[in-house]
Amino acid sequence: MKNLFPIAAVVAATLSLAACDSKTATTGEARTTPDAEAMGKTDSAKIDEAAPTSGTAAVAADEANAKPGPDPSTIPAAKAGDAAAIYARPQVPILCYHQIRDWTARDSKGAKDYIIPIAAFKAQIKMLADSGYHSIQPDQLYAYLTTGAKLPSKPVMLTFDDTDLDQFTIARPTLAQYGYKGVYFVMTVSLGRPHYMTKDMVKQLSDEGNQIGSHTWDHHNVKKYQGKDWETQIDKPTKTLEDITGKKIKYFAYPFGLWNTQAFPELKKRGFVAAFSLAEKRDQQDPLFTIRRIIASGYWSPRTLHNNMVQSF
Ligand SMILES: [Zn+2]
Repeated sequence: MKNLFPIAAVVAATLSLAACDSKTATTGEARTTPDAEAMGKTDSAKIDEAAPTSGTAAVAADEANAKPGPDPSTIPAAKAGDAAAIYARPQVPILCYHQIRDWTARDSKGAKDYIIPIAAFKAQIKMLADSGYHSIQPDQLYAYLTTGAKLPSKPVMLTFDDTDLDQFTIARPTLAQYGYKGVYFVMTVSLGRPHYMTKDMVKQLSDEGNQIGSHTWDHHNVKKYQGKDWETQIDKPTKTLEDITGKKIKYFAYPFGLWNTQAFPELKKRGFVAAFSLAEKRDQQDPLFTIRRIIASGYWSPRTLHNNMVQSF
């Protein structure tokens, strides 16, 4: 395990073991909606019938991904649905990854939910492609949630937290193989440190059409911020990421998936348009600031991942 934080050793320990939360993927809303079929939820039976090669899927994914969503600032408030309308839309499956590397003897049982072996990761992504999933970006999700804009068939969002280097060396080429784009929630304290991405890598991911979002400076729990913490954990990292990418930073992922309603106005006044949590229930009054994700566990086979996607969203 990585214990290489020169400063935030305590944070590192927490991150490695429980970077997000310890809830299982299926403890969320487990909400079934009449629209389940429209979201492709009944396609799980087809998973084993997927073509052994994914060339076709890759082409289809490329085409679907060629259309980035509109910038949220171009969507007039009058056109955006209210919280109830947003909450009522079927959720899009969103996966959350951390470290992508083979397990070592030092990895604890709990840590292995957050560390996915390379072959298992590649198998999960291949399953998505073979099953006809299309990766979507946050702008597309935002337009869908607020205005009902159309999404590609079988949408999925692939998110990567905590700035780990293997997200660049392993996830980036694996996603590219299928024409997929990812969302990288960067913790800026780690940039350039051993085993973490550099600023240049983050810029390259951004330039290649992936979304860069904020995951705070050093992973402190948003629920505990007071006074200057907002500047340290949010304002400065946003500036850093905007300087690196040359783009506005609009999306946020809560460390450990933890949030409270007091955080929403703080994030909104800083220009964030949506924030991502984990498998807990959404806030009915502010579903855009509690968009659910599940951690794609290192223990999960492609089939188990798919079952969890179908059950949790
Ligand atoms: Zn994290």
